[in-house]
Amino acid sequence: MAEHWQSLIGNLAVIALFISTWVHLQVLFAGRRRWVRNLAFGVTMGAGAVASMLLAIQIEGSLFDLRSSLIAITAFFGGPIAGAVAATIAIGYRVVLVGGPQSLSAVSGIVLAALTGVLVSVATRKRLPALGSALVLALAVAGGSIGLSFALRAGVPGGVPLLASPVAVMNAAATFVSAFFIMRNRVMERERDLLRAAFIHSPEMQYVKEPNSRFGAVKHGLARAVGFERPEQMIGKTDFDIAPQEIAARSVEDDRAVLKDGVALLDKEETVITPTGETIWFLTSKVVLHDSEGHVIGLAGMTRDVTVRRKLRDEAEESRNRLNYVLEGISDGIAMFDRRGVLVYCNDQYRDLFPTTREVRQPGHHINEILQAVADSGEQKGIPAGLENEWVEQTAATLDSAGEQEIQLSNERWLYVRTRPTADGSALVMVSDVTTLKQTESALRTMTEQLRRLAATDGLTGLTNRRAFDQALENEMARAQRSGLPLSVLMIDVDKFKAYNDLYGHPAGDEVLRAIGACLRGAVKRPGDIAARYGGEEFVAILPNTDEDGAFFIADALREGLHALNISHNGSKKGIVTASIGVATLVSGTGLDAAGLMQRADEALYTAKAAGRDRITGWRPKYAVQQSAG
Ligand code: GH3
Ligand code: MG
Ligand code: MG
Repeated sequence: MAEHWQSLIGNLAVIALFISTWVHLQVLFAGRRRWVRNLAFGVTMGAGAVASMLLAIQIEGSLFDLRSSLIAITAFFGGPIAGAVAATIAIGYRVVLVGGPQSLSAVSGIVLAALTGVLVSVATRKRLPALGSALVLALAVAGGSIGLSFALRAGVPGGVPLLASPVAVMNAAATFVSAFFIMRNRVMERERDLLRAAFIHSPEMQYVKEPNSRFGAVKHGLARAVGFERPEQMIGKTDFDIAPQEIAARSVEDDRAVLKDGVALLDKEETVITPTGETIWFLTSKVVLHDSEGHVIGLAGMTRDVTVRRKLRDEAEESRNRLNYVLEGISDGIAMFDRRGVLVYCNDQYRDLFPTTREVRQPGHHINEILQAVADSGEQKGIPAGLENEWVEQTAATLDSAGEQEIQLSNERWLYVRTRPTADGSALVMVSDVTTLKQTESALRTMTEQLRRLAATDGLTGLTNRRAFDQALENEMARAQRSGLPLSVLMIDVDKFKAYNDLYGHPAGDEVLRAIGACLRGAVKRPGDIAARYGGEEFVAILPNTDEDGAFFIADALREGLHALNISHNGSKKGIVTASIGVATLVSGTGLDAAGLMQRADEALYTAKAAGRDRITGWRPKYAVQQSAG
């Protein structure tokens, strides 16, 4: 009995041996087609079944062993082909080399085991958890084995052999343990495959080096990048075999430092000049690898080609520099405030334009801080006293919208400030010094004013000239019509002036006209009064809001003034220069126009001349004149 157990235990050892052999063998078939793998699996397990039979217990011509377990496992994991191959080998051995009357039942047992494996695999796949299907397989193998024994031995003298049940139990146990072992191995295998696939197929260029700086594992990408077709061709090589001497030496030096100090090298930038003269930038990282006991077993490295990124960065830097040159080169001040109102950029010109608050105009300072400094120092004119805080708030708010304004600083300089909000919520502020422009503008305004005055002034006397007088009269007429106030005009003509010129010469005559002009200007004193030279030796005065009496009063003053000048005139009966004055007054509601009023003043003047000169006459209707003349 004891040798029976020895044989069964020997059988278990055979199963363990062949399962473990396959686990190691299958690594060789890892990359092969599925049917090749299954064929190899079938052959290995078939050999196992034969070995199991070699150690079988032989009773009454029947072999008792654990072959069923191996055949069922093969069919279960390897499918019908593997199962058929293993079964064929086992049957071949059993029938050809052993033979005997029990061959038929032995063949039936082998075929049943193979079928059991395939059927349980199909029936439980995806329905039961892995261990559950292994258990079902084990029970099915045991059940099949016992069932077959009973079926074949029914009617045979001696009945079912003594060992049928223990063998069935052993088969079940062996099947379950083997299935469990193979399943565990498959899980580990899958994890390894996953890691290998991740290592090989991730886009970076990674490698593992031995402590002597030789490559131990390399990814496709790196192998191809340095000119190898397959990663295995790089195994055992060093950097000196794949890179220029200088670069290889640097790399190996880095390896040594990392291995010695255990400090990772991270993102070290390196450049390589290609034979075509192109520069390629790499970022290299290296970390030291330890085994579970903490011993250094190598290093893992990663190299990334960052040429494109590097070029983009260089280009961005270049354009930023170019922009800086431009911003520093222009005469305008430029400042950029972010969406919160914090100054993020300004050129030197911007600071120089505000000398008093120059120091606070630095990136990082808030607009309110800057404006507060302006208010405190009084740098800008026109900040309402006592309302500085409101001014700061209002001015800061102008950053939110596009706008222009001119400001004057206490240093008398004028600045033109433009604000432009940008799409991202920040604001661009441009400041130009427009002091010169302002000065030119002011000079131009003065000049225009002077020209305008000159155009309205008589050159000899400095009084309003004829053209400006006509315009002024129209305006005053309209105003008087609107207001209903009276308006008077004086028309003045120098007496016997032709004779004066003849006696004293034209330049002396001009001098007299100038004196009379000054005299007239002195006589019409009210701001609204206008004294003008009408032409030749004739003068006029417009007296707004003045009735006839008032006009006579002014005319009298002028006449007195002329007498007081006492300019001798031997060509005149009076012996001095005198003038005749005609007065006309507009009374509202008469419907008289400017020409009509002047006509009346002229008629009054004619009357004064006719009456003997050096006198003042008002306008009277024709019949009145005729009466007085009569
Ligand atoms: P009356 O008015 O008293 O009738 O005599 P009158 O000699 O002044 O006569 P009239 O008005 O016809 O003469 C105007 C003279 O005034 C003619 C001209 O010699 C002189 N006259 C006109 N314009 C100027 C001027 O700009 N300068 C000078 N010196 N004389 C002028
Ligand atoms: Mg005249
Ligand atoms: Mg005259």
